[in-house]
Amino acid sequence: MSGARKSKGVMVFVEFRRDHIRRGSIQLIGEGRRIADILGVELSGALLGHGVEEYAKEAIQYGLDKVHLVEHPILASYAARPYSKVMVELVEKYKPEIMLLAATKNGRELGGRFYVHLQTGLAADCTAFRVSEEKNLVMIRPAFGGKSLAHIMCKKTRPQMATARPNVFPEPERDPKRKGRIIKENIELGPEDVDAKMVQFITHMEDEATRLADADVIVAGGHGIRRADTFGTLQELADVLGGTVGGSRKVVDLRWLPKDRQVGQTGKTVRPNVYVAVGISGAVQHLAGMQESEKIVAINNDPEAEIFKISDFGIVGDLFEVVPEMIRQIRERRPAKEPI
Ligand SMILES: Cc1cc2nc3c(=O)[nH]c(=O)nc-3n(C[C@H](O)[C@H](O)[C@H](O)COP(=O)(O)OP(=O)(O)OC[C@H]3O[C@@H](n4cnc5c(N)ncnc54)[C@H](O)[C@@H]3O)c2cc1C
Repeated sequence: MSGARKSKGVMVFVEFRRDHIRRGSIQLIGEGRRIADILGVELSGALLGHGVEEYAKEAIQYGLDKVHLVEHPILASYAARPYSKVMVELVEKYKPEIMLLAATKNGRELGGRFYVHLQTGLAADCTAFRVSEEKNLVMIRPAFGGKSLAHIMCKKTRPQMATARPNVFPEPERDPKRKGRIIKENIELGPEDVDAKMVQFITHMEDEATRLADADVIVAGGHGIRRADTFGTLQELADVLGGTVGGSRKVVDLRWLPKDRQVGQTGKTVRPNVYVAVGISGAVQHLAGMQESEKIVAINNDPEAEIFKISDFGIVGDLFEVVPEMIRQIRERRPAKEPI
C-alpha cells in the first residue's frame, strides 16, 4: 500500500492462543506504545478469534488505545488464509503507518503473507526500533550472523511492517483501570476462506519451548559441560531454583539437548529473572538470545571468557565443582523446592 501521507497510527497484531494473549504480543504493545507516543498517534490492536472480547479489554490494560475485534468461528484458532484476509481488510480500512507482529511461527507466516497483498515491505525478526527525524520507523535486526545490526527503513510505502522477536522488549505493566475503545468489526468469512482444518491440537513439543521462553529461571549449559549427561546436574540446579534447562547451539548441534532448548540468535530469545550460564563462552550469537535477562550468573574456568562481560555475578572455576556445591548450598538454605 503506497500513500505514506494518508496513513496514521500504530497497529499491533494481538496474537491470541487458546486462553491467553501471547507474551510476545503483550511486549509489542509496550513497544508500540512507546513508538506511538513519540509519533503522537494512537496505538491500536487487531484481535482475531471467537469469544475473545475479554482479551480485548486486557490488551487495552496493557497500553492500547483501541482494539479492532474480529470474531468468527473460522477465526477460533490461527489459520493463514482467513487471518491474512482479515488483516488486509483492517489495514486497508484503517491505514496504520506502522504494523507490528510478534515473530512467533504464526506471526512470521501471517506477516509474510499479508505484506505481499499490501505491496509494502516487511523487516523480519527485529530486535529494536527507533523513530528517525523524518518520523520513519527504523527497524533494527541482526545481520551477518549477528556481527552487525541492519537498520531498515521503508520510506515509500505504508504500512511500515515488522515482526519482532518475543522477549526482546519488556512486558508493560497491566493497568486494570485503563480504558479504551473496542470496535467490533464485521468481516465476512465463508467456507472459501478455509484452507486448512484443525483435526487435533497437540502441544507437547511447543509447551517445552514455551516454558523456556517464559521461564523465570534458566540454567543453560555450553560445550564446557563436556558430556550430555552433565545436563542431569544442570537439571538438578534448575529444579532447586524452580527453573528449566537450556543451552548453547554447540550442545544442540552435538544432540545433547533438543533444538527447542537452544538459546540465541538461531534459537530462542529469553528474558528470565535469572540466567545461569554454565560452561558457555559468550559468543555474540548466544548473547543475542539472553543478554536482556534480569540477572546473569556465569560459571566458567576461563577468567577472560566474554560471558563475564555481561554477567552480574561471575564464578571463575571448574563447573564440575561449582555446580554441585551451588546445589548443596541452595538445598541447605531452602530445603523445600520453593521457586526463588
Ligand atoms: C549464524 C550463526 C548462528 C548462531 N546461532 C547461535 C545460537 O543461536 N546460540 C548459540 O549459543 N550459538 C550460536 N552460534 C554459535 C556461536 O558462535 C558459538 O559457537 C557457540 O555459542 C559456542 O557455544 P559454547 O559457548 O557452548 O561453546 P564454547 O565457545 O566452546 O565455550 C565453552 C566454554 O566452556 C568453558 N569451560 C570449559 N571447561 C569448563 C569447566 N570445566 N568449567 C567451567 N567452564 C568450562 C570454556 O572456558 C569456554 O568458555 C551461531 C553461530 C553462527 C555462525
